Amino acid sequence: PPKKDHSILNSLNAAQARAVSSDAATVAILAGPGSGKTHTLTSRVVWLVDHQGYRPEDVVVATFTVKAAREMQERIGKALGNGREKKIVLGTFHSIARRYLAAYGRKIGLSQKFGIADDGDSRAIIARICKRLQLAVDPSAARAWISKKKAKGTEASSVSTRQPVAKTPGLQDLETCYKEYQDHLERSNLLDYDDLLVRCVDLLREFPSCVSNIQTVLIDEYQDTNGVQYELMKLLAQQRKRITVVGDPDQSIYGWRSAEIRNLWRLLREFPGTDEISLEDNYRSSQLILSLSLLVIQQDKKRYQKVLKPVHNEGTRPVLRKLKSASVEAEWIVSEIRRAVSMSGKMLNHNDVAILLRSASLSRHVESALGKAGMAYKMVGGFKFYDRAEIKTLLDYLRVIHQPENNDALARIMNVPRRGIGDGTIKNLIEEAEKASLSLFDLLDKHCRGDRFAKTKITKHAEQKISGDLFRLLKGTRKRVAEISTGTPYGLVEMIEQLLTSLNFQKYLQDTQPEDHEQRWANVQEFINLAGDFVRDIDQVGDDALPEIQGLEQSMEVEVLPRFLANVSLAADAQKGGEVEESKPLVTISTIHAAKGLEWPIVFVPAVYNGSIPHMRSEDGDEERRLLYVAMTRAQSLLYLSYPVYSSQGNGERNELSPFVAPVTGQFAKKGPCFDRPVVARMAQILQRELPTENSIFSSLPSMYSGGDDLYPVDPDQVPKTLDERRARGEDSHQANIPRAKRPRLSG
Ligand code: ATP
Ligand code: MG
Repeated sequence: PPKKDHSILNSLNAAQARAVSSDAATVAILAGPGSGKTHTLTSRVVWLVDHQGYRPEDVVVATFTVKAAREMQERIGKALGNGREKKIVLGTFHSIARRYLAAYGRKIGLSQKFGIADDGDSRAIIARICKRLQLAVDPSAARAWISKKKAKGTEASSVSTRQPVAKTPGLQDLETCYKEYQDHLERSNLLDYDDLLVRCVDLLREFPSCVSNIQTVLIDEYQDTNGVQYELMKLLAQQRKRITVVGDPDQSIYGWRSAEIRNLWRLLREFPGTDEISLEDNYRSSQLILSLSLLVIQQDKKRYQKVLKPVHNEGTRPVLRKLKSASVEAEWIVSEIRRAVSMSGKMLNHNDVAILLRSASLSRHVESALGKAGMAYKMVGGFKFYDRAEIKTLLDYLRVIHQPENNDALARIMNVPRRGIGDGTIKNLIEEAEKASLSLFDLLDKHCRGDRFAKTKITKHAEQKISGDLFRLLKGTRKRVAEISTGTPYGLVEMIEQLLTSLNFQKYLQDTQPEDHEQRWANVQEFINLAGDFVRDIDQVGDDALPEIQGLEQSMEVEVLPRFLANVSLAADAQKGGEVEESKPLVTISTIHAAKGLEWPIVFVPAVYNGSIPHMRSEDGDEERRLLYVAMTRAQSLLYLSYPVYSSQGNGERNELSPFVAPVTGQFAKKGPCFDRPVVARMAQILQRELPTENSIFSSLPSMYSGGDDLYPVDPDQVPKTLDERRARGEDSHQANIPRAKRPRLSG
């Protein structure tokens, strides 16, 4: 029975409460960072279930990162209780699509055992095709081009007909590459990230009954929805057309993945009567952090203007530092973290600190400085835990065990650990298999049954190793997997451990990686922990079958291995990079992309120089600015920007401050801040409260400065303190030219 008690609305402001309880079919909340969009969205889910009688299993909630999805589920769970949040169809677009395809994919001719090609796999396949066919295209450009095509919902076969006969050089080659790539995926029974979405669109279009139970669809971070995701959203909601989206055009940062801000306006056009709600209070950041961030984003003259007022007091002036080199910069960050944490007594800890990077490649110096200082950290986003050689190998074994027709994976492990088989032999075997229209695995199978390899010359020793040892191991493990998965989904960890023993994997690492085999073995252990976590999770959640629909049979995915592999492939995109649950407080190192939607009391944004942000390979200066805006608006109370003067190449070239920051240097503190103990302790104390309701978090933070170089002299009288003051001075927008970064243009 729907609850009568409306206390869930009490902790919300008026606009939020209106959004939560709106009766409109379509609701669009467009508002700035920290205004409580995500909070409102999760509250709305709770409202619909608790007060409007929606069944949790009839609600779809989509967001952009696995981490954000997990956090949302937790928050909803706290409010709903009884584990009802687990029934909601909640996840990233990709994971939701995968769920539907696993359950109903057979209807559109998908083999039930499809695997997922993650970004790395896709890139490798494309690179090989380009090399084999000597195509005059850059593989990563080709990858981006193909992805764009798919995101726009174009099928491989129709590319050339839909495109005007373009003069784009290399177009022919791109199309060839696309076709070959798609053929390869189909042969290997793989779907790439784009396919997951595209195929799910096909499914739901053709078989609307799969989603006949869905009552409403809610989407967070809507500004980063691309064309296919938009279609998918509409199809998921086709039954009742009840959609709630929340987003912020200023935080659109996935243009490189064809996110289209246009989809925001498209929604309003296609769903007339949409209840548009704006939230204007920023509950996250201190006034000074917010006003600085707004000055940065307001350099963009074409943006859609929104009001965003700070709830909190002024706080402490953000810091901008120019350091000698990237390693000095990293050491400075470490010393600042140490100072803030030690001053706070035990109130603030390393969990309160994030270091946000434009690109993963910048992490080296930061990692090494934290390592030297003995500060534990975790890495989020784009830091390829799953790209480490030993983990990749292990995953390839699991992939072949799941999907023996995955030639790529089998080819990669054929000589790992060493079995005396050269690349040439592997290539020959693949060709031989292709000629015979067999998979590599089947070729080995036939060989084991006594057929000779027709063409490929191979030593007796190698033959014994692949047909005997490797093939027997794979086949035996497959059999075991089939046994463990009928009935119970357990045994994944044991299976991996046995595999490692059979391969003598630890010894292999010792022999081949004498310098860091211990670290690598530790990574393998961490991987086993992840598998254990996964099994434990699904133990609690149950299998992720969709709710039963009358007259529709869904394939039950009882096997744990494919689900684990899918989970890894989807997570590899953005997170859980070896992020094992630890009780120790950890500093977070994250890419800015993966930090979207999150917040920390203390945030560092290093490397704010021209060429890093905006990135020299970026085409879109405005998007780079939005990226910086996203980074800055993650901070609650202390924000540090910095950059090294000399580039790390050691060629004596000097870095210039980012053109987005250059016009606002006057807004920063003169010198690094130094907080006294009571101030930081008080800040921490208040931050620990779940929903700060008073203005006090920042009110008592005086700006106190320690010694240091005077880099950006400011005249305090010249610095407008608050937005209102700035408006009163007629300075609402800040004039700035957007110098484009020095960069070579990308092809394609
Ligand atoms: P982003 O654009 O960065 O994703 P957002 O708009 O989704 O931000 P939230 O993450 O939902 O913002 O909220 C930011 C912070 O403000 C959170 O700590 C949240 O708990 C808090 N908050 C939101 N609404 C209120 C409120 N009405 N009262 C007090 N605190 C609030
Ligand atoms: Mg949010």
